[in-house]
Amino acid sequence: MAVVNSNHPSPTKIHPIVGDRVIEGDGTSTEAWQNWQGLQDLPRLNIGTSFSTNSSKLPRVCVFAPHPDDEILGCAGLIQQLTLNGNPILIVHVTNGSQSHPESEIYPPSKLDIIRPNESVEAFKKLGVDQQVTISALNLQDGQVYHQQDLFHQKLTEILEPTDILVTPFIHDGHPDHEATGQVVAAYAKQHNLKCYQVLIWAWHWARPADSRVPWQNALRIDLTAEQQQRKVDAIHCFKSQITMDESTGNPPILSAQTINRISQPWEVYI
Ligand SMILES: [Zn+2]
Repeated sequence: MAVVNSNHPSPTKIHPIVGDRVIEGDGTSTEAWQNWQGLQDLPRLNIGTSFSTNSSKLPRVCVFAPHPDDEILGCAGLIQQLTLNGNPILIVHVTNGSQSHPESEIYPPSKLDIIRPNESVEAFKKLGVDQQVTISALNLQDGQVYHQQDLFHQKLTEILEPTDILVTPFIHDGHPDHEATGQVVAAYAKQHNLKCYQVLIWAWHWARPADSRVPWQNALRIDLTAEQQQRKVDAIHCFKSQITMDESTGNPPILSAQTINRISQPWEVYI
């Protein structure tokens, strides 16, 4: 049990990961999602009305990425549309993703600590929004977000403003750091009465169309234009460490061609 400093009230403790959301194998095919009418029929998220307030100043949108690349995989379409809308955007890298290549000689943690945030900077240039986006890093340990939730909560109190709108991974996204990030950010938003959207990232892999483990009844969809979709694909290809084979270990790319194809469709879904 962590000692809680009474000056920093702790959030409601997040729950350990439930084990039925497993990321393994090829996952659900792109075609299965394309052919599911339920996805086509989801109500659309209205950027203009959902990301504004009564004040004349547009709210800042804070996008939480457990690892540098999640902000692009999940939200490259939303981020492009928000910059067109005029919202300031803060990208928050919760960890630097330094543990993605265990035992690698090419990608040891000390290198990934620098490489992965830099890949994100390049991706935002490709997206054409680098002037409108600010990137910050919380420097939590990759793989340890659940265990560092008190520190995470404390950092949120330091960086977030009362009018921010938050975007975080789905609280049941399947990857432990994604679920921990989603749960800490969603709990903070509830505690401070901030609007918060959860984005599906790894859920596209393990979930199936109409899967009851995803609250589709609360889901909203955005549609990417062909140009926005192409920019998203180009931005994903900036994450070289994640999309190429590791010659030193022989391990395949972290993001397979199938995974990239599945996440590069002309939709994004938010809950
Ligand atoms: Zn991730």
